[in-house]
Amino acid sequence: MRRVALLGATGSIGSAAQDLARAYPDRIRLVSLAARSNYEGLIRAAEEFRVPRIALVDKEAARRAREVWKRGEVLEGEEALAALAEEDGVDVVVNAVVGGVGLHATVAALSRGKRVALANKESIVLAGELLLSLAKGSGGALIPVDSEHSGVTQCLAGRPISDVRRVTLTASGGPFLRRDPASIQDATPQEVLKHPTWSMGERITVDCATLINKGFEIIEARWLFGLSPDRLDVVIHPQSIVHAFVEFVDGSVLAQLSVPDMRLPLLYALSAPERWGSELPRLPLSELSTLSFERPDPLRSPGLTLARRALQAGGTSPAVLNAADEEAVRLFLGKKIRFGDLMPLVEEVLGAHRPQGTLTLDTILEADRWARARLHEAAANVARG
Ligand code: NDP
Ligand code: MG
Repeated sequence: MRRVALLGATGSIGSAAQDLARAYPDRIRLVSLAARSNYEGLIRAAEEFRVPRIALVDKEAARRAREVWKRGEVLEGEEALAALAEEDGVDVVVNAVVGGVGLHATVAALSRGKRVALANKESIVLAGELLLSLAKGSGGALIPVDSEHSGVTQCLAGRPISDVRRVTLTASGGPFLRRDPASIQDATPQEVLKHPTWSMGERITVDCATLINKGFEIIEARWLFGLSPDRLDVVIHPQSIVHAFVEFVDGSVLAQLSVPDMRLPLLYALSAPERWGSELPRLPLSELSTLSFERPDPLRSPGLTLARRALQAGGTSPAVLNAADEEAVRLFLGKKIRFGDLMPLVEEVLGAHRPQGTLTLDTILEADRWARARLHEAAANVARG
């Protein structure tokens, strides 16, 4: 039985995790749940799974939750995420909150030697190196939920990374794959949020359209698998059936395939190294007429270029990249900036950053705050201009 703290329980990955808890009552027990402000959804889940403790980052939402829900405890504030993650009665933390705010919970769980099923890729973009050394010291484990990284982990099946020549992550290419870049500058949030193959939260869906999501995944892979960036590739694969390729030193290539359904990588992050039988959708091999792969066009994938640049600059640069993008996406969804402004603004902030000092949690958080403020300054100039 895995006792699970589910952070980000009301989101897209959170609801996939609830589905699994429903399907495996003998193996998965949800012991705590957290969200930002959706107290109604959180209470519904707490009732269904008889969870005694929930947390809402938004304090007003927490107050309302206490008014209507008397069957358990309601924690509040950002600190509550880490508090749930480090509790003694928790074996696995499913970190499915969106944003850099998820980092503290990952740190808290790993410090206590727990398994983290990590959907919150921001944790590892911000602090990959620190998280790995934390896990090593405490005996904790960082298991990716991101489908590409789950694919790589499954292909590796415990083989040492010295057996690997290169890893290739696939990208759907997003909603604008075949569009002329000049024609998407004014794309609306509604158009951007129509992802062709995956159904996901808003931030990551926007990040798929600029391909910065795939850039974050390169950074994620760099730390998770300890591969230098020149051995990490991306190919566009519009069908989203193959999630990753691992080429071994002898020239043999393994790939991981499945229908695009996040419950599959999440299930593996919970069951690994075991495999649990499931009723999840099967891959209809005989109905797959085409699996195609192509090189990303740099003009259509500015986010990929920026992420490689941040990785090369090192230190706090990936944290700056994430924070600037997070704020830019928020402004775009609020219709304050155009789609075409997104990557130039993030690039401006990244270009202005001077990574300083040794990498610690404090320097990372400081860089994160700096980047958010700097992005808003730059965006105000764009809006005025
Ligand atoms: P959603 O937007 O669907 O859900 C986000 C969840 O996080 C919600 O429960 C939300 O609560 C909560 N949340 C939002 N802001 C905060 C905050 N400031 N503090 C605490 N909790 C917060 O996102 P996704 O499920 O799509 O993504 C979650 C993470 O998983 C992201 O890091 C994403 O990159 C990653 N991921 C997602 C994939 C997917 O298929 N969706 C695929 C691969 C990775 P509330 O409902 O109250 O706002
Ligand atoms: Mg992914």
